[in-house]
Amino acid sequence: MKLIDGKMTAAAIKEEIKAEVDQMIASGMKRPHLAAVLVGHDGGSEAYVKNKVIACEKCGFKSSLIRMEADTSEEQLLACIKQLNEDDDVDGFIVQLPLPKHIDEQHVINTIDYRKDVDGIHPMNAGRMALGLPSFISATPLGIITLLQRYNIPTSGKKCVVLGRSNIVGKPMAQLMLQKQHGDATVTICHSHSKTLKEECRQADIIIAAIGRPNFVTADMVKEGAVVIDVGTTRVEDPESKSGYRLNGDVKFDEVAPKCEYITPVPGGVGPMTICSLMKNTLAAAKGEFYAKS
Ligand code: NAP
Repeated sequence: MKLIDGKMTAAAIKEEIKAEVDQMIASGMKRPHLAAVLVGHDGGSEAYVKNKVIACEKCGFKSSLIRMEADTSEEQLLACIKQLNEDDDVDGFIVQLPLPKHIDEQHVINTIDYRKDVDGIHPMNAGRMALGLPSFISATPLGIITLLQRYNIPTSGKKCVVLGRSNIVGKPMAQLMLQKQHGDATVTICHSHSKTLKEECRQADIIIAAIGRPNFVTADMVKEGAVVIDVGTTRVEDPESKSGYRLNGDVKFDEVAPKCEYITPVPGGVGPMTICSLMKNTLAAAKGEFYAKS
């Protein structure tokens, strides 16, 4: 069994990005700028946004954080997004999800200029990605594809089972694994209504679990020599930890790991790669890699 070290891989990629940014600055280009909008005070979102700011520093990016109160109206948030769309200094921005219930999330996403949508969630990017056209790719799936590539894990012609069908993880992940230029695999997607989920998993060469159910994938669902990627990060109570909780993956690591050829840990697997992919997307936005700068 080999452990896929997302923390180390992400650190190496951030150094590569920093070297490229240094060259850009030396050649007279402006510093890439990522902005984040945080509405309300959700603990998980606060931590995630803080990590993004730290990652920006590591990559040599400028970062700005726009905080709005939980009772911010949809109109106020849309006005803020329009300002970011028009701000020439901002290369890319993210609106941290989930948003408070009174705000229509899809409406907000549709308002983001797709050329600055470094989270890859605007329909233009999701659609272009599905067609295999150059676009910003949702950060978590992009991070997983990058991990598979960096560890030289063969995917072409393999049977891959993706657990979960959310718009930000499951669906784009399955699309990437399917596409010839990325995974080139035979892909099955399972969700909460799938009747043959366990049987599908048992036949899989690669399992990507993104359902948010701690310890859901057990040893009896995994064949010998499989590659298991655990996206799940659920906070579970842990009296032994300082904070009183720990992050638990979707995979019952202790019993599944001995059967795997490769497996990602939680934490330290997919999580660090998500933020690192956001940095890659921001660099691409600053360079006008997918869409010409206006
Ligand atoms: P989500 O929007 O809640 O989607 C969960 C998906 O899992 C849904 O498609 C759901 O099926 C399916 N599902 C739920 N229970 C199931 C069950 N018992 N059997 C089969 N399928 C089941 O979640 P998400 O945003 O995709 O995130 C999934 C997990 O990944 C969460 O733990 C989240 O915290 C984590 N995550 C981690 C990162 C990272 O960077 N490490 C990034 C994003 C998300 P239905 O469609 O039928 O409801």
